[in-house]
Amino acid sequence: MLGVAKNADQKAIKDAFRNLALKYHPDRNKEPGAEEHFKEIAEAYAVLSDPKKRAEYDARGFAGVEGFSQEDLFGGINFEDIFGGLNFDFGGGSPFEGFFHRRRRGPARGANIEVELSITLDRVASGGEEKVRLSRPSACPACHGTGAEGGAAPKTCDTCKGTGRITRSSRKEREHILIQQISICPACHGRGSIIEHPCPKCHGSGEVEQEEDLTVKIPKGVEEGMALRIPGKGMPSPESGGITGDMFVVVRSKPDPRFERDGADLLRQETIPLTDAVLGATLQVPTLDGSASVTIPPGTQPGAVLRLKEKGLPEFGSGRHGELYLRIEVRVPEKLSREELALYERLRDIGGKQDGHFSKIWK
Ligand SMILES: [Zn+2]
Ligand SMILES: [Zn+2]
Repeated sequence: MLGVAKNADQKAIKDAFRNLALKYHPDRNKEPGAEEHFKEIAEAYAVLSDPKKRAEYDARGFAGVEGFSQEDLFGGINFEDIFGGLNFDFGGGSPFEGFFHRRRRGPARGANIEVELSITLDRVASGGEEKVRLSRPSACPACHGTGAEGGAAPKTCDTCKGTGRITRSSRKEREHILIQQISICPACHGRGSIIEHPCPKCHGSGEVEQEEDLTVKIPKGVEEGMALRIPGKGMPSPESGGITGDMFVVVRSKPDPRFERDGADLLRQETIPLTDAVLGATLQVPTLDGSASVTIPPGTQPGAVLRLKEKGLPEFGSGRHGELYLRIEVRVPEKLSREELALYERLRDIGGKQDGHFSKIWK
């Protein structure tokens, strides 16, 4: 759109935007299609100039940015900086007022909701469905969101005549100054309307918390902190007829007593007796799909790491599997029987002869 490379830096993007905007701005270019083109350029710039929006656009195309309001989209741009002293008549407000929303006219969209979902490592491995109980405000069914008993339309506030504000004027005669004091109407608390008989179900707020059970499809190998989008399950639009926002389910893995998760790999610590470390042994260790038998070679050192190939989690989107790493710790006996003590003493004697050189140094 701006005719810049995908990896263009911010300065190149800004320069390209400035040149194109000057060329196509409807104040300067009266050719048919120029205005439309200018709007597209402005949108492209708003997205590309903000690293976060750019990332969302790169990941999801226009779907990633179309929920942005005017303020979200153009709020971070310093137009003064781009156009210098050039004074365009943009018709008030944001210079691009109303531009982005040509794709989606009508009432504002509801906000997105983010919820966290903790799932077991077994669910990460298998994928499948998880239930989420969602509680969110929705229009009170008893009063249809009006807040008045039986759904009666609220009465215009007499005190402020529906403006929600009270204006008090006084004049300092001698100084010819008119003093105006504006404050929020105390009768209706700024709403401009009064509910004479509040709805007993929602106590006049017009909203109730509504619980809903949703089924979330967990992809196999879902990554830690990955967000799954469920369209239309966010907050209702603040305006009637507006689109409801989306819900983002952020997936976390539950702590597991068997393993620690590291991406698609699993880590586990095994503590073995000193004799097994010295002589070697066969261990039975839990895996996600049951258990596996592991050979501990003779002479295994404390802190040694053994790898169980592809016994980790499935890797998201690749079909590959991570590994299961076993970190071996060695338990040194603290209490010995008379017989064990005698045997260790005997071992030391033998070892002492073998390492005679060192025992002489230390003794
Ligand atoms: Zn109600
Ligand atoms: Zn009032």
